[in-house]
Amino acid sequence: MTKQPSILIIYTGGTIGMVMDSVTGVLHPFNFENLYDQIPEIQKFNYNIDNISFDPLIDSSDMEPGIWKQLAEIIKDNYDNYDGFVILHGSDTMSYTASALSFMLENLSKPVVLTGSQLPIGMIRTDGKENFITAIEIAAAKKNGRAVVPEVCIYFEYQLYRGNRAHKYNAEYFEAFRSVNYPILAQAGVEIKYNHQAISKCDEKEFRVLTNMDLNVASLKLFPGIQQPYVKSVFNAEGLKGVILETFGSGNATTKQWFLKELEDTVNRGIIILNVTQCRGGAVKMGQYETSTGLEKAGVISGYDITYEAAITKMMYLFGNNHSTESVKKYIQTPLRGEMTV
Ligand code: ASP
Repeated sequence: MTKQPSILIIYTGGTIGMVMDSVTGVLHPFNFENLYDQIPEIQKFNYNIDNISFDPLIDSSDMEPGIWKQLAEIIKDNYDNYDGFVILHGSDTMSYTASALSFMLENLSKPVVLTGSQLPIGMIRTDGKENFITAIEIAAAKKNGRAVVPEVCIYFEYQLYRGNRAHKYNAEYFEAFRSVNYPILAQAGVEIKYNHQAISKCDEKEFRVLTNMDLNVASLKLFPGIQQPYVKSVFNAEGLKGVILETFGSGNATTKQWFLKELEDTVNRGIIILNVTQCRGGAVKMGQYETSTGLEKAGVISGYDITYEAAITKMMYLFGNNHSTESVKKYIQTPLRGEMTV
């Protein structure tokens, strides 16, 4: 007889488990026991399902790298006892958490599926039930004894995304996420159709968890009319080690001399500047236009088609794990968990 799948649900908060305050009308999190009561269907799964609930539960806009560390450690401590993990999380910062966990959890061979919802589970039209139930099914899915999706991923509104390729693009529609530069990993309809080609292969190497994140990173989003004092204030932040430079189109920026000089001086101080496009689709191609050749000459490096969320968390992760500037430079331009196409 095959063993029942075992799933660990980790509930951090988010709209899925929120209730509306009858006086103020404001949504706030409530505890997991009630959430479980709301979905008796889950008991019909022939799975062994356990849960861990955060205390306090949070709206994901209060997410912190310290909580990513806690999540990674819960997965590490329970890794051998479960076939898969489902993290219930607010959608606002879900793609940051998914990206951070994808780097922290090395050589993953089990699914870690993040999900949540746009409407609380207690509401009649909730999207939470389907998201939650299917996320559990995906976390339990196996083929020839191996996990079908051994990745950190996001399940939302019938689609499964690679976590470090997704971003929240809509605050209104149930289809809240997109992954423009990478195909979806699965589509749920009558059946869950897995895109096996796009899913990472199970890693045979030993599972490792590295949770240190260095928060001496920043980002600078360019806009026409950006002024030097503002740019200076970002580049001269105390302790700064790396900056995500959010550029236009295929990685372009103003050609103003003062700007290029600021970049060059910053790079010469040993600070890494990573070029990530403000566009959600496509990639940085430095040198394609005159407006990006100056960046290249100043020592700015390419983030290719990485999402902003994956770029900032990857930078925290690399600096957090004592990589030298040269090695951060190398690895930030190298795909580590399928987060970019070079
Ligand atoms: N503000 C909520 C959160 O991110 C939104 C959601 O859950 O979708 O926690």
